[in-house]
Amino acid sequence: MYNINDMKKTVESFIQLVRSIYKEDFIALHRPVFEGNEKAYLSDCIDSNFVSSVGEQVAEFEKKIAEFTGSKYAIATVNGTSALHVATELSGVNQGDEVLTQALTFIATCNAISYKNANPVFIDVDKDTMGMSPVALLDFLENHAEKHNGTTINIKTKKRISACIPMHTFGHPCRIEQIASICNEWDIPLIEDCAESLGSYVGNKHTGNFGDMAIFSFNGNKLVTTGGGGMIITNNSEIARLAKHVTTTAKVPHAYEFIHDQVGYNYRMPNINAALGCAQMEQIEKFLKSKRNLAYTWKQFFESHNIDFVEECDGYKANFWLNAIILDSKKSRDEFLEETNKNDVMTRPIWKLMSSLQMFKHCQNDGLVNSKWLVDRVVNIPSSVPDNILNNRKL
Ligand SMILES: *Cc1c(COP(=O)(O)O)cnc(C)c1O
Repeated sequence: MYNINDMKKTVESFIQLVRSIYKEDFIALHRPVFEGNEKAYLSDCIDSNFVSSVGEQVAEFEKKIAEFTGSKYAIATVNGTSALHVATELSGVNQGDEVLTQALTFIATCNAISYKNANPVFIDVDKDTMGMSPVALLDFLENHAEKHNGTTINIKTKKRISACIPMHTFGHPCRIEQIASICNEWDIPLIEDCAESLGSYVGNKHTGNFGDMAIFSFNGNKLVTTGGGGMIITNNSEIARLAKHVTTTAKVPHAYEFIHDQVGYNYRMPNINAALGCAQMEQIEKFLKSKRNLAYTWKQFFESHNIDFVEECDGYKANFWLNAIILDSKKSRDEFLEETNKNDVMTRPIWKLMSSLQMFKHCQNDGLVNSKWLVDRVVNIPSSVPDNILNNRKL
């Protein structure tokens, strides 16, 4: 058990270090940086009147994300949740189905499943990646599911398992190659929730290229922000065509008639948001580099204070979107949260498990041993791109 006086001292020197890196009075977990062409591109939108759902910046931003992630197609949406909603729909998730996902995730993942009137089934995570465990996934399928006429059925509930949505927690890639091969074997469509993992790789492959499609978020607290925004990426031309179609009101091109051939969504990203995104993408390499240096600084500090800092797994490259530490007990965690927040240094516990929220309490889970362990111990620490330039040290 961590001694409380030790903890007080540790937090004191942590706060000192934090304040040597960030000059703001209140230090946020993740604030945006606008040091590039943001204002110029926004002005162009206003001067040209193209501020809304039509405009060149949307296509430009999509192109930039496709290029950066190495994905064939990218379709911009109004936020990450809407991208997840449409991805779930395009995977063929229907009313009453089940979708395998993590209990340790942000609410958007499970909300999107619920919008299709389907239920999440919660699979445990690995302790080191904090993302879906392929061992737990395979164990669940082998013990609770069977293949039936080309689909996978949950033996207990008799429901169809129609998708799997793992999430790359805080930008640390989960074991997605193993998950992809299990999904492939069981004929389960795979959607990667990459909302937090822009700039994170497994080997040389960007996250989001391992399944049928993936989504990103450009909310204000993400690595790259458009104010609010999202993106679907895929390497499948038919999925790409459908994704563009249903997110843009399912309008059939015509010189002047309004023809819509199905119920679609107005999930279009406005041009002004895309303009912001274009300016942000010009700086992404700088953001990633400086966040890596920051992670190295945190790692050194916490290692010297005998606190676990969440690092990259071998062969994986994290974007270090939100840095995380693992305290030795809930008591030390609460102590750390209390002392830092009291001093205007924002730190946060990880999310409550989705399986503990009243909307999802009834959903099946596999026991969630690692998820429960992590929930009591993980704390996010300030992770914004620092305003002073850190040295070029490597993690
Ligand atoms: C941010 C986030 C989303 C999407 O959020 P939006 O605010 O709708 O853009 C989805 N999943 C996870 C894990 C996230 O962190």
